[in-house]
Amino acid sequence: MTAPGGPRHRDDLRDLTDWQAGLRAQFPILTAHPDLAYLDSAATAQKPRAVLDAVRTYLTTTNANAGRGTYPWANRTTALVEQARDRVRGFLRDPAPQRSVVHFTGGTTEGLRTVARDWLPALLCDGDEIVVPHADHRANIEPWLEVQRHLARQGTRIHVLPMPYQRSSGDYDHHALAELAGPRTRFVAVTHVHHVYGADMNIHRVRRAVGPDAVICLDAAQSIGHMPVSVAELDVDFVVFSGHKCLALPGSGAVWARQERGPGFAPGGWQGTPNTVGIVSLAAALDWLDGAGTDRVARWTTALAARLTDGLRRLDAYEVIGCRASLAADSPVQRRQGIVTFRHRDIPSGDLGFVLYDRGFMVRSDHHCQGGEGELDASVRVSAHLYNTVEEIDRLLTVLADLG
Ligand code: PLP
Repeated sequence: MTAPGGPRHRDDLRDLTDWQAGLRAQFPILTAHPDLAYLDSAATAQKPRAVLDAVRTYLTTTNANAGRGTYPWANRTTALVEQARDRVRGFLRDPAPQRSVVHFTGGTTEGLRTVARDWLPALLCDGDEIVVPHADHRANIEPWLEVQRHLARQGTRIHVLPMPYQRSSGDYDHHALAELAGPRTRFVAVTHVHHVYGADMNIHRVRRAVGPDAVICLDAAQSIGHMPVSVAELDVDFVVFSGHKCLALPGSGAVWARQERGPGFAPGGWQGTPNTVGIVSLAAALDWLDGAGTDRVARWTTALAARLTDGLRRLDAYEVIGCRASLAADSPVQRRQGIVTFRHRDIPSGDLGFVLYDRGFMVRSDHHCQGGEGELDASVRVSAHLYNTVEEIDRLLTVLADLG
């Protein structure tokens, strides 16, 4: 019998099968629960043994405060934090590491808010414009609107330009953006991979649309660890991401800043004790991901998503969603980054989430923290990482077909 997603994607993945099985075996939580399929990695990712070991080793051999103290454990902790900064630069293929800044944060939300509070006001003058992506994650909307309100209280008017979207896919509408952006457009907030539609948002086209002078701040929460993210290729000024979504511990994350457009990025004030355990876990996760190969991770998760969307297309009861629109069968989003979001014609998405857990699938079913221009109704989001398998996707399709 032909597998529900069709044989083609299995062929696409044949050369990666052993690679994937070897990596999946390194996730203790997954090997301990072989009957459960974890398909909610866009919310948070599972951790490989290498990350768990790095944390345990650090806490049982070296634990001390960083940047404070002269004894060996303290010096070693300080060195680990500095090495982790270089690790982030290396992971991002930073071509000029001596000029960039890496600032550790608690995650993407905190990172974006730090850029907004500590850096953006110094860039903006009365009458300037900023572009805000209102159908992206709320973490990438609210901080910029807070800056607008904060500056307004001081008498500085900033115009917020809503990022235009292509309704049929969830991509940005790069042509409309080019028409919208002018010489006063100083700052553009964008997302690398959309957390609901799975679309790679074509950031090089955003740069072309807004011109060479605007600052671009990239929310990379859903791309880091899922695909190669190279600042040597992406002409962006900030890259912001969460550790917990790229196999490290919650409460870790980083802002990478290029420092070429606008004032230097120097997050203000006394920083306090860093989350050294989180930072150690982040460095270990990035090492592990580089070893696994993010290009192969991207191939794997993109093929799983394609298998799922192809299977769903054959089931009349389901609608795969773009941006407040049902996706056309040939939408390019169907070939994108490991995230597929859908609804059943009759079963409310919240109920579907419970039913799926009952059958062994952990997915997300709600509004996904999306901004006001996003989906009006709840939906079910399936998000894969390198540890998910073709069999899990096929099992899910079989269950969804039974519910149809
Ligand atoms: N941006 C995107 C695209 C996300 O998907 C998320 C989390 O789901 C965030 C930002 C916020 O990340 P965190 O909760 O780790 O701060």
